[in-house]
Amino acid sequence: MPSTSSTSISIPDLRERFDGRVTAPGDPGYDQARKVFYGKWDRRPAAVIRPTSAAEVARVVGLARDRGLELAVRSGGHSLAGHSASDGGIVLDLSAMTALEVDRRDGTAWAQTGLTAGAYTKAVGADGLATGFGDTGSVGIGGLTLGGGVGFLVRKHGLTIDNLLAAELVTADGRVLQVDAEAHPDLFWAIRGGGGNFGVATRFRFRLHELPSIVGGMLLLPATAQVIADFMAAAEAAPEELSAIANVMVAPPMPFLPASAHGQLVVMAMLAYAGDAEAGERAVAPFRALAEPLADMVRPMPYAGMFPPEEEFHPTAVGHTMFVDRVDGTVADTIVEHLQPSDAAMRAVQLRALGGAVARVPVEATAFAHRHSRIMANVAAFYDGPADRDRRQAWVDGLAAALHQGDDGAYVNFLGDEGPERVQQAYPGPTWDRLVEVKRRYDPDNLFRRNQNIPPG
Ligand SMILES: Cc1cc2nc3c(=O)[nH]c(=O)nc-3n(C[C@H](O)[C@H](O)[C@H](O)COP(=O)(O)OP(=O)(O)OC[C@H]3O[C@@H](n4cnc5c(N)ncnc54)[C@H](O)[C@@H]3O)c2cc1C
Repeated sequence: MPSTSSTSISIPDLRERFDGRVTAPGDPGYDQARKVFYGKWDRRPAAVIRPTSAAEVARVVGLARDRGLELAVRSGGHSLAGHSASDGGIVLDLSAMTALEVDRRDGTAWAQTGLTAGAYTKAVGADGLATGFGDTGSVGIGGLTLGGGVGFLVRKHGLTIDNLLAAELVTADGRVLQVDAEAHPDLFWAIRGGGGNFGVATRFRFRLHELPSIVGGMLLLPATAQVIADFMAAAEAAPEELSAIANVMVAPPMPFLPASAHGQLVVMAMLAYAGDAEAGERAVAPFRALAEPLADMVRPMPYAGMFPPEEEFHPTAVGHTMFVDRVDGTVADTIVEHLQPSDAAMRAVQLRALGGAVARVPVEATAFAHRHSRIMANVAAFYDGPADRDRRQAWVDGLAAALHQGDDGAYVNFLGDEGPERVQQAYPGPTWDRLVEVKRRYDPDNLFRRNQNIPPG
């Protein structure tokens, strides 16, 4: 995409218009302001602007549109494709918009999109309430929600978008729209899975669930093919209250692990049972029985305990996201055979059992169309500098091809910068055509194009 040179905007003028909340090249905070989660996206925008209201967001959108500047929208900065960074354009950084209004009476919350999943979870958790996001606290609720949202409550309460009741959206023409099932239903359908293609979401209204405590945490098991296959069988057979994420990977030298386990293949599982302690312990027992755990931190705790504080970390990684129907012994063998010989500092296959509440929503109800896919699989490897990248990508591609079982779908939020064909795989069947139609209606000039893009045609 062409980006526009910084000469077409006056930084002093911008600072005046946005009360100084503008960071530009040469400013002391510039390197921090342009930084995103993934270390490979070292982009240099003309300005990073931090609006504080929907009206200001509309002004940033108008500025980018009228000056022909590339516009990158950032909530938590975790885009795998680097879409919330820009070379020469404007970054609209929502991090100053973190208001949260909880309405206990009707069990809903309005949340501004500068909030992270962790901050939202901690705040509503103080009242024993929860909305499900992903597995990492620092991810922004903006990008995560607009792509779908698969996390620790997914089998019990569905995707994040299944708990989205309304949104406030600034469209390309600068209007601030209230969007829900009655008002602009076409947009409300599209933003539930279609990503940032249709406007800047400034607020979301979520359903809250009563969740005074969970039984959850990390369970580390030695990863034989048998354990991996049995783990996924248990995850699919578990009550819907339990959602499980299995990271099959080489054990890092974590202080709580015996030294003999360092460098060995393990299942680093995150389990969350959304219910009372006794039933939770019963639901977790089959996982504990699979092998002698190397570490067992699963315990009753507040849901926010699933999002411990994170150290600042900017990995360089390649990956491939896909869906599979089964992880039986043969599939588990394939995983072990590929992970074992690789010498990447971190290589992993992440497996997430879906089903439950996700599968009960009709495929056509939202723009997330993978309702009947049973397991999400993400293959990933770290690389060490550009020279190392291609061989790590080749390893990822080889393992992904070996795991492919016929489902060509992809979850948009785990896509990297992989080209238009992969974006279409995120929106199979009639979903794509319907999204293109909504895109034409609300963003005919493709102002919102730094995303997994749905071109207006
Ligand atoms: C460590 C890590 C763990 C993850 N775990 C999970 C997980 O468990 N479950 C899951 O579902 N996903 C997960 N993801 C993927 C994550 O959902 C996506 O990367 C998501 O896009 C990140 O959102 P963000 O707001 O942090 O990112 P950003 O980089 O800020 O935004 C990504 C893109 O989303 C769009 N966008 C963001 N905010 C807005 C907005 N307010 N209005 C309009 N468009 C917007 C823009 O197009 C932007 O380029 C994970 C990612 C990482 C890096």
